Amino acid sequence: MAITPLMPVYPRSDVRPVRGEGAYLYGENGEKYLDFAAGIAVNILGHGHPHLTKAIQEQAATLMHVSNLYGSPQGEAFAKRLCDLTFADTVFFTNSGVEAIECAIKTARRYHHVHDNRHKHTLITFKQAFHGRTMAAISATDQPKMVDGFSPLLPGFKVVEFDNLEAAKAAMDETTAGFLVEPVQGEGGIRPASKEFLQGLRALCDEHDLMLVLDEVQCGVARSGTLYAYEQYGIEPDIMASAKGIGGGFPLGACLATEKAAAGMVIGTHGSTYGGNPLAMAAAQAVFDVVANEEFLGQVRATSERLRSALEQMIPNHDHLFDSVRGLGLMLGVRLKSDSRAFVSYLRTRGILTVAAGDNVMRVLPPLNIEESHIREFIDGLSAAAADYEVPEAA
Ligand code: PLP
Repeated sequence: MAITPLMPVYPRSDVRPVRGEGAYLYGENGEKYLDFAAGIAVNILGHGHPHLTKAIQEQAATLMHVSNLYGSPQGEAFAKRLCDLTFADTVFFTNSGVEAIECAIKTARRYHHVHDNRHKHTLITFKQAFHGRTMAAISATDQPKMVDGFSPLLPGFKVVEFDNLEAAKAAMDETTAGFLVEPVQGEGGIRPASKEFLQGLRALCDEHDLMLVLDEVQCGVARSGTLYAYEQYGIEPDIMASAKGIGGGFPLGACLATEKAAAGMVIGTHGSTYGGNPLAMAAAQAVFDVVANEEFLGQVRATSERLRSALEQMIPNHDHLFDSVRGLGLMLGVRLKSDSRAFVSYLRTRGILTVAAGDNVMRVLPPLNIEESHIREFIDGLSAAAADYEVPEAA
């Protein structure tokens, strides 16, 4: 049999972590890695954070899971905390980012359904976007590598150029339900939307009674330097997907909505066996205990400035390899002049973990609580690797 027991859908590297501590991962043979990938923007408190670990341990011993058929003091408490801290009036908990997106899409469609606008079912989405891997989420993109072989895709999505308000406007017609957009595209190459773009989409939604659906799965939960990135754009969404950092490594997602946007989400319209179980809620509360305050968020912004300026200072020393730095908060991208995947692989052999993204970008997504010493170690390691790296011949 040639197939592996783990379905071979990932190009898994030689890094085989078995233990983590703060910003470090340790492989099965004792290898040490500086983890500036953080499980792709998930481990926002690093590995083995005492407050998070204790909360999970205690809740696991108390009550791990009950059905959503019962009342949920744990879910009510964390949903209220999220609503108090954000634009939202109501929250549906999921187990992943893509499930939060699925709920967001359903919420947008149901809004128009209950207002007898059943023809309004199309979400306008954007090139290079990534919303996850369910049929609905891949249907919201036009990237061949994600959709090949999975036809027929779901109808009801129209993809236009990112950060181009005119293109978004031109794509609108009588079927438009709203827009689905990442404020900072992650997989697409760490591209922050412009203020004009997001504010323009907000204005179009207000004018035409459409839903502005934000995907903050990657950029949300303090990563951008504010609790959610939309705060920096001077707008509020109608619906928003959150995940990744929200559980600090515990699988959890959330679909947040205003009361108005959730008008159609009545009993029986959606569900999840595990979503928002007591264990997940305990993890999320612990994460928010640490990150949802101005002191922590200010620290993220200060760390971001230091890391970004260190990267910017380093680039001219290796200008055969590096092009520029971009991003928001601790969601940074270094654009390379050659294949970023090859360099990210090489960095792994030097004990540094980052993540490749589109547009030859190397994503730098450290835990949000890193210290000055981690920045120095990263920059020194990156600089030494860049000096030794032999750019592969273009294929
Ligand atoms: N949306 C964005 C912006 C993401 O970055 C991701 C994952 O990378 C998803 C959605 C899907 O999340 P998940 O992999 O948890 O389903």
